[in-house]
Amino acid sequence: MTVQRILIVSGTHGNEINPVWAVKQFNREENSLNHGIEYEYIIGNPAAYKKGCRYIDVDLNRSFKVSENSDPHKNSFYEINRANFLVDQFGIYGSKPCQIAIDLHTTTANMGTCIVLYGRRFKDFCLAALLQNKFGLPIYLHEKDKDQTGFLVEA
Ligand SMILES: [Zn+2]
Repeated sequence: MTVQRILIVSGTHGNEINPVWAVKQFNREENSLNHGIEYEYIIGNPAAYKKGCRYIDVDLNRSFKVSENSDPHKNSFYEINRANFLVDQFGIYGSKPCQIAIDLHTTTANMGTCIVLYGRRFKDFCLAALLQNKFGLPIYLHEKDKDQTGFLVEA
């Protein structure tokens, strides 16, 4: 399957402003890298970004769980609704389906510039290998929360 659209997310945590700045730089016309691929750029958590805080109600990265999203109490959380919007918009069955999502973060952990890989599709490993080969970045496989690895999983 050829990648047709890539989602670039920044500001998933509203207090992480470097990725938002970086995306603005990537998105400048002179830096265009489209090569026939359509990119979607979005601030993951615009309300938290606007307030300069990590999140409004709950961590957006922990809000992509189908079972909790059907809970009427948790559906009042800003991030649960935002996660549902993002999946409805950019998930594999969304109105603008993206085959790959790259979610940019910063951290205070001593792990340097790296790739944290959630997906386990062949294309996820290929992309990570390409980036590792090009930039020499270490790759960490995210194993802790299996629910999160299914955000854009192919059917
Ligand atoms: Zn973050």
